Amino acid sequence: MTEYDAIIVGSGPNGLSAAVTLARAGLRVAVYERNPTIGGGARTAELTLPGFLHDACSAVHPMALASGFFRRFGLDRRIDLRVPEISYGHPLDGGRAGIAWRDLERTVDGLGVDGPAFRSLMAPLVANANRVAQFTGSQLLQLPRHPLTALAFGLRSLEQGSPAWNLRFRQDVAPAMLSGVAAHSIRPMPSLATAGAALSLGTYAHAHGWPIPVGGSQSIVNALADDLRAHGGVIHTDTEITSLDELPSSRAVLLDVSAKAMLKLATLPAAYRAKVERFRFGNAVAKVDFALSGPVPWTNDDLRRAGTLHVGGTRAEIAGAEADVAAGRHSDNPYVLVAQPSFADPSRAPEGKHVLWAYTHVPRNSTLDQTEAITRQIERFAPGFRDQILASSSMTARDMENYNPNYVGGDIASGGANLRQLLVRPTLSTEPWRTPARGVYLCSSSTPPGPGVHGLPGYYAARSALRHEFGILTAPPLAP
Ligand SMILES: Cc1cc2nc3c(=O)[nH]c(=O)nc-3n(C[C@H](O)[C@H](O)[C@H](O)COP(=O)(O)OP(=O)(O)OC[C@H]3O[C@@H](n4cnc5c(N)ncnc54)[C@H](O)[C@@H]3O)c2cc1C
Repeated sequence: MTEYDAIIVGSGPNGLSAAVTLARAGLRVAVYERNPTIGGGARTAELTLPGFLHDACSAVHPMALASGFFRRFGLDRRIDLRVPEISYGHPLDGGRAGIAWRDLERTVDGLGVDGPAFRSLMAPLVANANRVAQFTGSQLLQLPRHPLTALAFGLRSLEQGSPAWNLRFRQDVAPAMLSGVAAHSIRPMPSLATAGAALSLGTYAHAHGWPIPVGGSQSIVNALADDLRAHGGVIHTDTEITSLDELPSSRAVLLDVSAKAMLKLATLPAAYRAKVERFRFGNAVAKVDFALSGPVPWTNDDLRRAGTLHVGGTRAEIAGAEADVAAGRHSDNPYVLVAQPSFADPSRAPEGKHVLWAYTHVPRNSTLDQTEAITRQIERFAPGFRDQILASSSMTARDMENYNPNYVGGDIASGGANLRQLLVRPTLSTEPWRTPARGVYLCSSSTPPGPGVHGLPGYYAARSALRHEFGILTAPPLAP
């Protein structure tokens, strides 16, 4: 008799989605977390001043309504997800801006002569957004369930992921908008991986929107933890696991750790270890959170209502900034990803005040504080921003790894998201969550479908464990 049926190491969104899936199948489940609070990349805390609630990592959740796991779990019925009318905004010099309204037609209207070309790129995907989510949210090494949608996605990725990416548009706004979304993948562009990010996240922008949870990303993991406990699961915080030998007995162990950390924790065959050692970590993120005395004074008024902003200028400028990072340099003209959570959720800051979330891309292991670089880039499109800052809190790439060892060198994806590593994550297998060691599974974003708060790696790893360790072939229903 084992003490638990299954143990999960790490309480990030994927550790908890795995735990919920296993507990709902009737198993005795325990989670061990090194930090005093649960959540991994989905934690919310007063990082600057009392009353200002900042998301320490994830802030905006394009997959919250698109993820097959969250749809089964009924996340939107458990927590208050606010969906901004503007999914993302893209400031350009001279007070101009690209505005990605949730309504695709409204977006098209704002793009002038390039509107029809933007519509023909996005509309077929937006009309089939759940199929796009099914395709991009699965192990890519399998026959797609909806081949026509996969084909439409693939052809558009070939265009937006190659030098042909500039042929579709005549002006600079639409290309800048697509590049701002593509840059989420922290890769040089154009490439198939950056085009895939632009098209999948761009699709959700006009289908489900990019939601911001009331209470911060912490509320997502709290909902998972509540469900786990309601099904008998237990969570131990402040417990770092350095070897699987430290754990109580169980039939399955699921590791919400990076592929690299898994090699330290588990005894694995040499051939498998050699394959995992070829898995590469990507470039990094340096983050700054601001407490503001008022809203950001964007020159373009519409931007004040955007949940997310891609700050860095034209397509050429953003591609240049990402090329700098890929070459190991800090860009003088960085790409900055900005979120304005307190517009959607005023509970995050005292009345009339705001929190602002921002990060930029930097070389792996960077120790440079990016507060000034980010402030300067926001000032370029919002003169007077600097005067609104009451306090700020900064994390370098190196701090990121100290905060959470899954972010190796500051790589928030737990493994570079190039095309090869989206297919081989961390090994080439139709079931990459399962390791050759009996009962040992990897369930973090080092496995498919990769980074983001969607719970899918955890869900797939749990399904694999249910099947192989417990002979349970059908995943349990997850709805409330
Ligand atoms: C700055 C930043 C911004 C982001 N922004 C967004 C965003 O806006 N939207 C979005 O969708 N995604 C975003 N992400 C990505 C997202 O947060 C991650 O992809 C996601 O959290 C990965 O989930 P996970 O469960 O695989 O790992 P994690 O969330 O990293 O959780 C792993 C957990 O395991 C614990 N752990 C690790 N090793 C051990 C051990 N040995 N013993 C015990 N516990 C251990 C860690 O402490 C951590 O709690 C962001 C990430 C960062 C860092």
